[in-house]
Amino acid sequence: MFVAGEIYRRRDLHELFGGQRQGGISTPSGQNFIMLFTGSQGQQYGYNHGWSEEGFYLYTGVGQQGDMAFERGNWAILEHTANGKDIHLFENDSKGNVSYVGEMVCTGFREVRGPDIDGNDRRVIVFELTSADALDGAVEADDEYERMWKEPLVKLRKQATASYMSKNSPSERRALARSRSKAIRVYALRRANGVCEACGKNGPFRTSSGRPYLEAHHMRRLCDGGPDDPWWVIGLCPSCHRRAHHSADKSEFNHRLEHIVERKERRRVKDQKRGKDQRTGIDRRTGIDRRTGKDPRSGRNRRE
Ligand SMILES: [Zn+2]
Repeated sequence: MFVAGEIYRRRDLHELFGGQRQGGISTPSGQNFIMLFTGSQGQQYGYNHGWSEEGFYLYTGVGQQGDMAFERGNWAILEHTANGKDIHLFENDSKGNVSYVGEMVCTGFREVRGPDIDGNDRRVIVFELTSADALDGAVEADDEYERMWKEPLVKLRKQATASYMSKNSPSERRALARSRSKAIRVYALRRANGVCEACGKNGPFRTSSGRPYLEAHHMRRLCDGGPDDPWWVIGLCPSCHRRAHHSADKSEFNHRLEHIVERKERRRVKDQKRGKDQRTGIDRRTGIDRRTGKDPRSGRNRRE
C-alpha cells in the first residue's frame, strides 16, 4: 500500500483515508490500519523515537500532561492486533511531508519517567514496534524450525499465539516475536499437510527435508500479533501464493482464503474438543463412560 522510504504529504494521506490530522497517532475510522507519525508537535518532550539496539522501533505514546495512560491512541497501538488494525509508521520529513518507514507490529512496551508539558515528572509509555518485514524474514529453516514440525500441533498453536507481554525483558520479547512468527508459519503449513489450502493440489516438489513445498501466505499482517493469528495464515502452492499477491482478483481471492481457513480452524477446534472426550472416554452430555457404559460418578450401568 505504501512504499518504504517514499515521501508522502500528510495532508494527502488524511484526505485519502481520514483520521486525525494532528498528533502522532491517527486512527482513521473504517480503515483496517492506524497511522503513526513521529516528531509531531506536542508529542515529543525530549523523547526520542527511533531504532533501538535490540531492533525495536521505540515509539513514545501520546498524552501531554500527567501520567500517560493506555487510552485513545495508546490503546489503539497496544490493542491493534486484537482490533484487526495494521500499523503504518511514518517519520516526519519536512513541511508537512512524511517518509514511510514500514508496517510495524507492537511487540511490547516499556515505562520510563520523563517530564510532561509542565515539566512535571510522569510515567511515559514507550512502545516497542517490530518491523513486520523483519518478522517475515526471521523464518529460517534452523533447528527451532525443524523442532516445530515435530511438536504436537496443539503446542505449536500455543506458541503461535503466545503473548509478547508475558516476557519481561525487551530481548526476550524480541526473541519471542521471532519464534512466534516462525511458529505461525509452520502451523499453517502443517495444517495444509502438503496440499495447497486454496486449490487442493499437492505441493509441486519436495524440499530437502522431504516435505512437500508450500508457502505460508499472510492474508493479513496481523498474524504476527493477534490472539487468533493462525486464522490469518494459509499454506499455498507457489502459483496460488502469487495469485494472492498479484492477480486482478486478489482481494476476492484473499477473501475466499479467509473463509477456507476459518472453516478449517473451526472444525479443528471442534475436533479437539471431541478428542478430549475420547481421551477421557466420558460422554460430555450424559456423563457416561463410553468404554465401560458406566456412569463413573455412580459406578452404575447405563441401562440399570
Ligand atoms: Zn494452489
